[in-house]
Parts: sequence; C-alpha cells; structure tokens
Amino acid sequence: MQSRQSFLKKKNQKKWPYIVSGCIAAAIIALIVTWIGLNDWNIDKSIAALGLSNDKGKPTTEEKVDEPAMEENDEKEQPAAEEEPVVEEPEIDLSGAKGYVGHETLPEEPKYVEGVLIASKTYPLPSTYAPGESKEARAAYEEMAAEAKLSGYNLVAFSTYRSFDYQTQLYNKYVSNDGQEEADRYSARPGYSEHQTGLAFDIGEQHFEQHFARESFGETEAGKWVAANAHKYGFIMRYPNGKEKITGYMYEPWHFRYVGEQLATEVYKAGTTLEEYFEM
Ligand SMILES: [Zn+2]
Repeated sequence: MQSRQSFLKKKNQKKWPYIVSGCIAAAIIALIVTWIGLNDWNIDKSIAALGLSNDKGKPTTEEKVDEPAMEENDEKEQPAAEEEPVVEEPEIDLSGAKGYVGHETLPEEPKYVEGVLIASKTYPLPSTYAPGESKEARAAYEEMAAEAKLSGYNLVAFSTYRSFDYQTQLYNKYVSNDGQEEADRYSARPGYSEHQTGLAFDIGEQHFEQHFARESFGETEAGKWVAANAHKYGFIMRYPNGKEKITGYMYEPWHFRYVGEQLATEVYKAGTTLEEYFEM
C-alpha cells in the first residue's frame, strides 16, 4: 500500500510541470487570439499595436521627406494604403519628386485664378515667363520695411525675382551637390519657383544671416513681426507651418508672396493658404 501511494505521489509530481506549462501555453494563445481580435483580426495591425513594426516611425519620416501637393490621402484609415509610399519611393528619380504633378513639359501660358498668378508644383510657369521683380511688390515691401524699422527691425529682402535660367543653375548645383531627391526637398525645379513670378520676397533681418531661409526666422521677433503684419502691405506667408501637404513645400517663415492688400488680408484672416482660399 505504502509503496503504491508513494508511486502515485511520484507520478502526480511528474505530471505537474506538464499541467503548468500546458496552462501557460493555453493562456498565451488565448491572449494572442484576444489581441488579434481587438485589432480587427488584422495581423499587421496587431503587430504594429505592439510597437514592433517599422511603420511606427514613418509619419515623422514623411513629414521630413515628402513635399506632396494636393494629395489628400486618408492614409491612417487604411493600413494597406500606408505601405504604398515606401514601395513608390525608389521611383522618384523616374517620374519626378512627390508633389510635382507629372508635368514633363512646362506650359505655354501661366495659370491665373481669379486674376491671381499661380506658381506651384501643380501649376508651373512657362520657361519664357520673365517679368523681373514686380515694382508694385517692391514698393509694398519698402513700405513694410520702413514700418518694421520703427519697431526696431531692419528687414532685408535677400532673394526676390529669380529668372528661369538662374533657377536652373541653382537647382542643377543643388542636384550635383546633394542628389536630385535631396535637392527636391528644399529647392524648386526650374519653372516651379514662385520667385520666377517677381512677386515672391524672401525676408530676413539685417545682421542675422544665420536665420536666412531657416525655420528659426519664424521664432525671432522680426520674423513674428513680419508674420503678423505682412498682410497689411499685401504679402502672405506662402508656405505656413503644417500646410506642407497643401502647398507642396515645407514651412518657410521667410518666404512671402505679394498678392495685394485686400487678398492678403482675407487670406491672413482666414488663416489659410492660397490653395485653400481658391479651393485649388
Ligand atoms: Zn523663397
């Protein structure tokens, strides 16, 4: 009897590890199934939700890299759509950078919307469009600069009209230095620059060249003054922060476009971009 009891005891002791590990395995499987179920039975989504997926870092990359214009993809709602840009990226060299809307040749005539000249990645200018710096825009700028001086800011327009040929030289230089993909991030291709209109003014503050054509200009007192007052003189900040997908350009707190006092004031008060204002 005693020996049989101790035999059974030993046998039960041997079984314990199997029962325990079996329970743990069942619990893990139940957890996994529940987790996937919570993520709409989508394996990719479940993995992403655990924080193991590369997709997690992508939005920041997209903010930095892309300059897409007029693309309103509801990427977040469709996990499948989110993967497409990664696949398409190597094609940039062939079909043009994101944001350029596939114009292989420049148009014969410039685009006007309600009498306002448009130059963007969607609506490039003819290579022959060469008006020089706008006298009206220059006069308005001088008026603004005089007013700024009274507040203690010595403004400088460090880049205004750029001809098609000059933009070609600039762009080609950037491409040979950094490669086309990188150059497309910060430079317009020839025909696509608003500076070719003669109505775009890159504004900075004298003796503060370190903020020229930098986002940091927006944080300076002079930059804030221009942002808050430019519309009174007919200028709008053409590429505001957070509107990259609409304008096709990253935030440029130094780049102002002359559109006339009335339109500038309306656009400024609406807190919007030219694209949104004209529903282009
Ligand atoms: Zn500019």
